[in-house]
Amino acid sequence: MSKTKSDHESLAADRDLYSGLIRLHVLHHAAEQPIFGLGMIEELARHGYRISPGSLYPLLHGLEKKGYLRSRQQRNGRSLRTLYRATALGRRALEASRIKVRELFRELMEGE
Ligand SMILES: [Zn+2]
Repeated sequence: MSKTKSDHESLAADRDLYSGLIRLHVLHHAAEQPIFGLGMIEELARHGYRISPGSLYPLLHGLEKKGYLRSRQQRNGRSLRTLYRATALGRRALEASRIKVRELFRELMEGE
């Protein structure tokens, strides 16, 4: 197996593992203020998650389809930018996840 291939595979596995965390992260920021795709990519990169527009946009659309986010268009110079905000349902889902994340956090950090 070539090194490149296994690196590629481990990246894909990481993405699977972290996709829920990324969704929660997105929801968290969208509950605080309107977010847009590129800004969110930069924010996630700051936390060490590398995600491409090709992965982030479907994720945002998925959250919107579930009713967790609502989007609107905003003019940004000559182009339109899509802004996303958490809905009441999204906020409730985030609140419920807080308990689960705290519990997982405790277990992960036990003995550290
Ligand atoms: Zn953040």
